[in-house]
Amino acid sequence: MLKVDPGFKATLSTVESAGELSYCYQCSSCVAECPAAQRFPEFNPREIVLASLLGVAEYLTAEGSVIWQCATCYNCYERCPQGTHPVEVITALKNIAFDSGNAPENVSSLREAVMEHGTVIAPSDTIRKRRDELGLPELPDAPAEDMKKIMGRGGG
Ligand code: SF4
Ligand code: SF4
Repeated sequence: MLKVDPGFKATLSTVESAGELSYCYQCSSCVAECPAAQRFPEFNPREIVLASLLGVAEYLTAEGSVIWQCATCYNCYERCPQGTHPVEVITALKNIAFDSGNAPENVSSLREAVMEHGTVIAPSDTIRKRRDELGLPELPDAPAEDMKKIMGRGGG
């Protein structure tokens, strides 16, 4: 059974970029342009916005949630006529899921890599050598300390 959380909309409203959640009039423009919805029938940004608006989105932050199928391509952000930003709502849900320990393992691993190196893929000696051969400038040191500060939320 879905659990209604009246405070959930308020939680999302603290995400500055989440846009005007209550302006969504369920037109499905975001779904029509969503590559994840085309690939995964169970993924639907319109339904995610609606569940968030109604305060019944707790299931979306549980382990194995469909929210992780979002490609973060921002098509929905561009297409929404109402200034609702489904992708930012989904990102907020992802953060809640992560804080609850419900993020997929690969996401946690990527986060660790960014925390450690400041990049998803640490530049290897091979990459550095190839850049040198191509006459590209040396890569700057990864801003790992800055990344730790930025990503310090949620158990980091
Ligand atoms: S989020 Fe925007 S595009 Fe998607 S259903 Fe709501 S109003 Fe339409
Ligand atoms: S950002 Fe996510 S929800 Fe929005 S269109 Fe892209 S895949 Fe779909």
